[in-house]
Amino acid sequence: MKKAASPSRAAPAPRGRPKVRPGALAPAASAAPAEDAETRIYQSVVSGVMSQRLRPGTKLPEAALCELFGVGRSTVQKALQRLAHDHVVELRPNRGAMVAMPTREEVGMLFEARRALEAAILPLVAQTASRADYASLRRQLRDEHRAMHSYPQTEWARLASSFHLRLGELSHNPILARYLAEIISRCSLVVAIFQPPGNATCEHDEHARVVDFLEQGRVAEAVAEMDLHLRQLESHIQLVETQPERSLADMLGLA
Ligand SMILES: [Zn+2]
Ligand SMILES: [Zn+2]
Repeated sequence: MKKAASPSRAAPAPRGRPKVRPGALAPAASAAPAEDAETRIYQSVVSGVMSQRLRPGTKLPEAALCELFGVGRSTVQKALQRLAHDHVVELRPNRGAMVAMPTREEVGMLFEARRALEAAILPLVAQTASRADYASLRRQLRDEHRAMHSYPQTEWARLASSFHLRLGELSHNPILARYLAEIISRCSLVVAIFQPPGNATCEHDEHARVVDFLEQGRVAEAVAEMDLHLRQLESHIQLVETQPERSLADMLGLA
């Protein structure tokens, strides 16, 4: 954050067209035609990281990003700051940006915090949830499960996390729900980065068991099931470092 991010000259118009085909970008990035360059860079990096093209520790030099996206330095800096805010990249003073490289210890603390939050949320859900709430939770689980198996595994983390986010809402504590949403997105990132390809697990049955226990008023068992579920999720993470030699454009999905 030491790098003077020259503050706001409101939304700069994109300078020239980027040298990429729109089809090469992440699906979300091509949605709006007038989408700003900052968002395009943000989404290309996120989707590169989530799909394991961009590996932890990869350098993201400002000059190269300017070139690749056909934009000026301030746009690139703003995108990098958003990415740093969301823990996708690390900004190191005088050494530029790189894809975040969480340590084993950080991953452990992240999941520890998540288990504590989810354990606090479940009893609150049990206190207030109505039959209709449980019915809609089950419907959501069913729909997501169907959708999940028709998507590539790289998309699974996003689908699986919506169940947890819904529980956060049902706690009716917006503060807990907000912390949970933040921590879930960080966990999803870590899982996506470090899960060996082809090793994603379907979370459906474990989710369904949590709902069963909750609805039966067996809150302690629901909490224990959730705890086990989160420990299993964490256990799939393998902090192995492989550094395939690919061009930045390729890793960003622009090649
Ligand atoms: Zn399944
Ligand atoms: Zn889950």
